[in-house]
Amino acid sequence: MASLSLKGIYKKYPGGVVAVSDFNLEIEDKEFIILVGPSGCGKSTTLRMIAGLEEITEGDLYIGDRRVNDVVPKDRDIAMVFQNYALYPHMTVFENMAFGLKLRKVPKDEIKARVEEAARILDISHLLDRKPKALSGGQRQRVALGRAIVREPQVFLLDEPLSNLDAKLRAQMRTEITKLHHRLGTTFIYVTHDQTEAMTMGTRIVVMKDGFIQQVDTPQNLYDKP
Ligand code: ADP
Ligand code: ADP
Repeated sequence: MASLSLKGIYKKYPGGVVAVSDFNLEIEDKEFIILVGPSGCGKSTTLRMIAGLEEITEGDLYIGDRRVNDVVPKDRDIAMVFQNYALYPHMTVFENMAFGLKLRKVPKDEIKARVEEAARILDISHLLDRKPKALSGGQRQRVALGRAIVREPQVFLLDEPLSNLDAKLRAQMRTEITKLHHRLGTTFIYVTHDQTEAMTMGTRIVVMKDGFIQQVDTPQNLYDKP
């Protein structure tokens, strides 16, 4: 069964901009989908519609076999990681990672166990009592990933998660996110401008242009062909 199905999805913003047109894609379990394309082509809008942060104008979105067009973000089996980390400055790392679970009324001892496990995976166990301002950029990005992991979602959405990091850290996090994908065994959808990320991380690449899907293929077929 497909983990995610997008059928004839359109997004028209108030004011008239059609950001996404006739978007059709079936995503299988455990795929690592890369969304690429020029600025303004509709990548973020697509991700935000999947997350439920933006209303779908037309079309059907399924997570598994459940139509989720009208399901609020919190009740979708999805977690999203943002470019700017979006951590709560007044909360510790632990509290940042626990927040989404508290909201969903997960029992305290289970929250603690999941946060500690995610912190181990991401090597941030020693940072749990710190506030975000006392973290480096790379550490903040790990916390943002941790906050998504603890949700144990069926689908991970990542919107240019590495674009604020320097080249060295970016290379390191590329490897770590690939490992994380293998380890979690869930579906990833990842927006990027970076061709190296697209080539090395994706199982399939979706190229968008002017709101449409222009091409869908494996990294090998897209980048290695003469
Ligand atoms: P990308 O992520 O590929 O840069 P976006 O999805 O952010 O593209 O934007 C797609 C199009 O929708 C652009 O023309 C953009 O200006 C427009 N757009 C994005 N967000 C809004 C909004 N909230 N209201 C109106 N237009 C928007
Ligand atoms: P609240 O004040 O909303 O009850 P707490 O700050 O007490 O939330 O934290 C909730 C749970 O998380 C408690 O069981 C607490 O012991 C645990 N906790 C808080 N910070 C840490 C941490 N750094 N490492 C491990 N567990 C923590």
